[in-house]
Amino acid sequence: MKKLTYKFSNSSVDYYLAGSIAHLKEIVDKNSAIIITDENIYNAHTKRFKGWNTIVLKPGEEFKVQETANTIIEQLIEMEADRKTTLVGVGGGVITDMTGYVASVYMRGIRFGFLPTSLLAMVDASIGGKNGIDLGVYKNIVGIIRQPSFILHDMVFLNSLPQSEWENGFAEIIKHACIKDAAMFRELESNTLKKYQAKKTAICELVQKNALLKTKVVQQDEFEKNERRLLNFGHTLGHALENQYELSHGQAISIGMTYASHISQQLNGFKETARVVTVLEKYGLPTYASFEKDKVFNVLKMDKKREKSEMNYVLLEKIGKGVIKSIPIKELESIIKGL
Ligand code: ADP
Ligand code: ZN
Repeated sequence: MKKLTYKFSNSSVDYYLAGSIAHLKEIVDKNSAIIITDENIYNAHTKRFKGWNTIVLKPGEEFKVQETANTIIEQLIEMEADRKTTLVGVGGGVITDMTGYVASVYMRGIRFGFLPTSLLAMVDASIGGKNGIDLGVYKNIVGIIRQPSFILHDMVFLNSLPQSEWENGFAEIIKHACIKDAAMFRELESNTLKKYQAKKTAICELVQKNALLKTKVVQQDEFEKNERRLLNFGHTLGHALENQYELSHGQAISIGMTYASHISQQLNGFKETARVVTVLEKYGLPTYASFEKDKVFNVLKMDKKREKSEMNYVLLEKIGKGVIKSIPIKELESIIKGL
């Protein structure tokens, strides 16, 4: 199994990108590892967990809370997990976030690694070391930046991934293409979701490309001072929408990217909004949605990216080149309300 090692400020991460869960025992000792997964993944792939200590959680973002962390910690104590234990998160973004969080605080920090099973977790959530939980309406308000020891990919898990989760993953893939990779954007334009789903090698390559693209962005700016902020393309408006409407993360940021393209057009002379919108629609994502501008703007202006009376907004200069622009809140309000 091929291993690539990437260095971050105070740790390094081993990537096994075209791997298999069958190789997990070569990365961690089966006796001292504990897998954390959720019921959907466990039920669809039960035989793959045979012989491993496993904690199975209920699926869903609503369980990404401190109570679940406490339950896991109680089980770890019961299982006599100690400083030599490695936690392995096998799942989507909720599982990787939770695993990294618990591993970072249990006994002041134990080793952890990820086997992301959703497309979104493979290309995004498992990479970059952000681990955390939600409290009430506040997403990821409690957490820590700490890199996993390893990331192992096994495409076999995608066989059971629901269609809506494929679309979610593609929203982040399109985001990566928009901000950093014009060639990948063209590839997405000339392909379809069905083609990627049918062709193992195509999705495998696309996943690797995206995982490495995000890794490089994070390596340059692990603690999100500048470059890493590009990854928030579509997310400022997206998060505000996600909080108030019944939208998946992918759907919300897709609408966010559509509007960010229009803002780019107005402020940055961006000329390719139609291409962005066409690709998003091609991968089953919503673009122009009507929403209550006042209500959403009130949430949006409280975003973490705000600095006093200005908001750091990710815009496109052209496809493949994202830039961060500080926009006065008043101006942003009139642009968004005018769209
Ligand atoms: P994310 O979208 O950030 O990956 P989740 O961890 O909530 O967030 O995963 C999304 C949903 O997809 C969850 O219901 C999870 O159980 C399910 N899921 C993740 N991976 C798989 C898989 N390989 N097969 C079936 N369901 C999966
Ligand atoms: Zn996202």
